[in-house]
Amino acid sequence: MDRIATPSMTREIINKYGLRMHKTLGQNFLIEPKFIEKIMEAAEIKDNQVVVEIGPGIGALTQGLAEKAAGVIALEIDRGLIDVLQDIFREKTNVHVVHGDALKVDFDLLVQEQMGKRAIPYKVVANLPYYITTPIIMRLLEGGFHFSSLVLMVQKEVARRMAALPGTKDYGALSIGVQYFCKPQLITTVPPTVFYPKPEVESTVIRLDKRERPAVVVTNEKIFFALVKAAFGQRRKTLLNALSNSGYPLNKEEWQHLLEMSRLDPKRRGETLSLEEFAVLANHLSDKGT
Ligand code: SAM
Repeated sequence: MDRIATPSMTREIINKYGLRMHKTLGQNFLIEPKFIEKIMEAAEIKDNQVVVEIGPGIGALTQGLAEKAAGVIALEIDRGLIDVLQDIFREKTNVHVVHGDALKVDFDLLVQEQMGKRAIPYKVVANLPYYITTPIIMRLLEGGFHFSSLVLMVQKEVARRMAALPGTKDYGALSIGVQYFCKPQLITTVPPTVFYPKPEVESTVIRLDKRERPAVVVTNEKIFFALVKAAFGQRRKTLLNALSNSGYPLNKEEWQHLLEMSRLDPKRRGETLSLEEFAVLANHLSDKGT
């Protein structure tokens, strides 16, 4: 079959199946094969590996993945695209089209059901719908699923936030959430012109390699992430003021004491703290049993 990721093939498929694009589902299809290749290169798929693709659309990326992987599980929420995908890939026995929601599915179970237990760990590759990029990423990370890497096309600003270092304007709770579990690597920026329809934003391909264990030792992850959220809740305030006003059941003196124990200057802003510094503070907070 010809490349799906071209303007003419995309038009042909849309016309053939009488498709209507759903903006509310973040449907922007890739129409430039060069970027399929870049995503494929970044994903480094071996012929014995299984890939979960979130949101295959009309299969632009699925086609590339199917040429390399032992199995591609294409998870699509749009019911209207399921028969289309099944028809397009009817001769590809390694493509498994599944109707489902990336915000609800148990990814490990999905892979196990489609390909068996030995397919775990698997890779995840996606040109993500913009409207739920962050919730999908956080779900993949916090869900404890056994993937080895994620290669994702996301809005440029979101990719920057994922890879941002302490003290920069992009650094925030998302940077910490991502970097706690994964090592991020920005791959390439992607202009709006290579999608149909054209989105209003620029995109970036980012690769996230899952760490064998989290980047820092944290005794209670819930407390760690709640603390991060509290510190970034009021970015412009000092750490002491942001934490004291965060609604946590600790008064200013208690926070002051915890910051001292953690050797952190209370006048610093949360956005300057490294993962290690957040971990030290969170572990002292956990010890307090609050
Ligand atoms: N992979 C295709 C490509 O690159 O041309 C399509 C990418 S398009 C940006 C996003 C796709 O995700 C759409 O097909 C959309 O229907 C699908 N989608 C949206 N929300 C979803 C969800 N919660 N779970 C699974 N797929 C979803």
